[in-house]
Amino acid sequence: MQTNKIAILGSTGSIGIQALEVIATNPDRYSASVLTANNNVDLLISQAKQYLPDTVIIGNKRHYQKVFDALNPLDITVYAGEESIEQIVELPLCDTVLVAMVGFSGVKPTLSALRHGKKIALANKESMVVAGEILVREATLYRGVILPIDSEHSAIFQCLNGEYGNEIERLIITGSGGPFRGMTSDLLEKATPEQALKHPTWNMGTKITIDSATLMNKGLEAIEAKWLFGVAPSKIEVLIHPQSIIHSLVQFQDGSIKAQLGLPNMKLPIAYALSYPERILSYDKRFDFNDYQQFTFEQPDLKTFRCLPLALEAMNKGGNMPCILNAANEEAIYAFLKGEISFTDIASVIEKCMEKINFEINITVDNIVETDRQTRIFCNELIIKLKKK
Ligand code: MG
Repeated sequence: MQTNKIAILGSTGSIGIQALEVIATNPDRYSASVLTANNNVDLLISQAKQYLPDTVIIGNKRHYQKVFDALNPLDITVYAGEESIEQIVELPLCDTVLVAMVGFSGVKPTLSALRHGKKIALANKESMVVAGEILVREATLYRGVILPIDSEHSAIFQCLNGEYGNEIERLIITGSGGPFRGMTSDLLEKATPEQALKHPTWNMGTKITIDSATLMNKGLEAIEAKWLFGVAPSKIEVLIHPQSIIHSLVQFQDGSIKAQLGLPNMKLPIAYALSYPERILSYDKRFDFNDYQQFTFEQPDLKTFRCLPLALEAMNKGGNMPCILNAANEEAIYAFLKGEISFTDIASVIEKCMEKINFEINITVDNIVETDRQTRIFCNELIIKLKKK
């Protein structure tokens, strides 16, 4: 039987590694035909030796020779550079493109894959945040399919299964609340990267773990849901559920609420995005009701965690505002991780960028690239000023 050939963009990140494990669990169905990474050369080489893809791309061209020398004897084609990633997804080498890159970098390859009729398994929420309008339009135009890997969106997608034509009254996106849930602004001011990187329930990459600590992650997910499910912002809510077992919920016109439950393990949404509408093996452990005496819920603290209301504002405004939010957020997070700004500065910096960068209601690929560039420059000026204080 022919396997479904998967290109994994960002194979050395947390999602990429788990996607390869899902493929290894289901070798009769899937094969990894393309692997890409930016800088994690050693892991990329060892993954290629294990999974024997047709092609490997190293984003950072400086590492090309090392990857080439290691993989050429195995008959694996090696390319370098971001443009190669955009081009490779156009070829018949892959049927499905799993986009697991971090941040804005996922936009162009996702568009390129959509335009060439590839099924998209999307873990890169930032591309939906900054270019959701364009991606959804192109998906319709090219009859492309975008399947969500984000666990909340996978949950919503599963709840909507079989509900064709039934109107969504409310989408409820759940979140654990992150490591700083219940903290006051004074304490948050002093929060260190080490504390922010200790997530209570999920084991994830660095950028998203900081987004979980600021609650920006829920805001980005609200914007992502707006585009993925074509739902008005007024129907999207965020609910804190510290146990991270209910991954999201959908309410319909008759008042019925459907939820999807499971252990916090990304292999399930990865597997579902690959196998939909079928279900396949993902992980072994099973949810046990004896381990959980109760599920609890609370409203997010919007006064203390200011990134979330900023993201909801960007969702309401639309246009390039989510792009401004995202670019500022990425830069602010890197500055926080380097110890240049405080945890609470992240929201302040984003807010200033949202005030100062030109707002445009109509977006094109060119103007979001330009918005992204301008925002990062302005944001870094703000960061330098904060550093001097
Ligand atoms: Mg999520």
